Amino acid sequence: MTTATTTDYKVPQLTIDGTTQGSAETLSVIDPSTAQPFIEVPSATLDQLDEAVAAARRAFASWRLVPLGERQDAIRAVGEVVKANIDELAELVMREQGKPLGNAKGEIMASLRQVDFFGTLEMDPEVIKDDETGRVEVRHDPIGVVGGITVWNYPFLAAMFKLVPALVAGNVMIIKPSPYTPVATLRLGELLQEALPPGVLQVLAGGDELGRAFTTHPGIDKISFTGSVPTGKAIMAAASETLKRVTLELGGTDAGIVLEDADPAVIGKDLFWAAFSNSGQVCAALKRLYVPESKLEEYSAVLAEEAAKVVVGPGTQEGVVAGPVQNAAQLAQVKRLADDARSNGADFFFEGEIPDGPGYWFPTTLVRNVAEGLALVDEEPFGPILPILTYTDLDDAIERANATSYGLGASVWTSDPDAAVEVAERLEAGSVWVNQHPVVTASVPFGGVKQSGLGVEGSRYGILAYTNIRVISVKR
Ligand code: NAD
Repeated sequence: MTTATTTDYKVPQLTIDGTTQGSAETLSVIDPSTAQPFIEVPSATLDQLDEAVAAARRAFASWRLVPLGERQDAIRAVGEVVKANIDELAELVMREQGKPLGNAKGEIMASLRQVDFFGTLEMDPEVIKDDETGRVEVRHDPIGVVGGITVWNYPFLAAMFKLVPALVAGNVMIIKPSPYTPVATLRLGELLQEALPPGVLQVLAGGDELGRAFTTHPGIDKISFTGSVPTGKAIMAAASETLKRVTLELGGTDAGIVLEDADPAVIGKDLFWAAFSNSGQVCAALKRLYVPESKLEEYSAVLAEEAAKVVVGPGTQEGVVAGPVQNAAQLAQVKRLADDARSNGADFFFEGEIPDGPGYWFPTTLVRNVAEGLALVDEEPFGPILPILTYTDLDDAIERANATSYGLGASVWTSDPDAAVEVAERLEAGSVWVNQHPVVTASVPFGGVKQSGLGVEGSRYGILAYTNIRVISVKR
């Protein structure tokens, strides 16, 4: 265990049964813009997990009986607590994740859309039949104790994406944030105790082994997971033992196809940010760009022009729009894919500036003269690098875009958005966007097909994933 060199922050604790707890074990959290530990937080033991699960089961017995409207009042109170503490929470997200302060604040603001949407959603039972012979209705009952396991790119948003619909549906939740970014989620757990009864929301920080313990714990009824494909598969396998429900939001290698009729001057900026938002650390970022061969020079020029404007640096620095890669392992992955592409003859036609000194920095990088079969194209870099491929035949481009085991998002870029829907329909992905990529919000379902996931988050479909169907059938 590394020892933190500085602790400028009040150390947030685990939240178990409405109270804060430390632990004999700790997790050292690194600031990715310095590559130095900045805080050490408690790491939950397996005994503390048992304690939290027991508290959750007690809380569930009463929370499930609270009328929907009152649970929604509580969720709106959650939103108020988040709003009242936005500066502190944004600072923590910036520090642990690396993103600029304004973007960290944006992440927290975005999470409040969950509150607005699920805080007012109606969930009346569906009446299938109601006549003189009988009545059949379908109700959506809460599942029970949900384990939320989250990732480090949008740590706060991922937690809110899970807890808001889960609690509104009448479940209770124990969240385990990523060991790379546990701080803001732990603080959220502490703060939310003023808005929620004890045991309804608990937060346990810990490493992968704590996540594994969630997936086999007999007292946890569902796992809602955001993270990588291999971990998603491990969770699904482990959950089968107790037949837990699972929702899996996994990775992607999203393709974007630029049609002949698109105008580089019009779409250039949006195309760039589709790939480079959050320094490319977005599950549904644009990760393979297909442009018509005849237009390669034009698109290279507009993308390089946007890339040249990007100032990479620490989140506190004025004018910085992109932070570091969040952790050393991810940086090594991005470097491996870049080195492999370079040694296979790829043209690195734009490579931006990065700060001198320590930190997990990788330059904003645009690459062409690449094709499928190259690791940079086939795998998920999850960092600030975009491979640009060319095509001469649209059917061929669609086939190549679909030739992957992933299926999270995809996009089509054009001057004729309505006509492009025909192309959109042929792309194998959970979301296909036209002239934008990605758009993820509370009111719209989001999830992957193929190996990019199972189930969706967001919308009525997302909240129903936190419920079991119960049919009440009356014979008259
Ligand atoms: P990861 O799968 O390694 O870790 C994510 C979480 O799972 C962490 O909290 C970790 O401690 C926990 N974990 C690890 N092993 C576990 C196990 N066996 N059982 C239970 N929990 C376990 O993810 P990562 O590689 O750090 O994150 C990057 C990946 O996440 C990328 O592939 C990215 O595309 C994906 N992602 C997907 C979405 C989405 O909504 N689809 C959003 C963000 C990131």
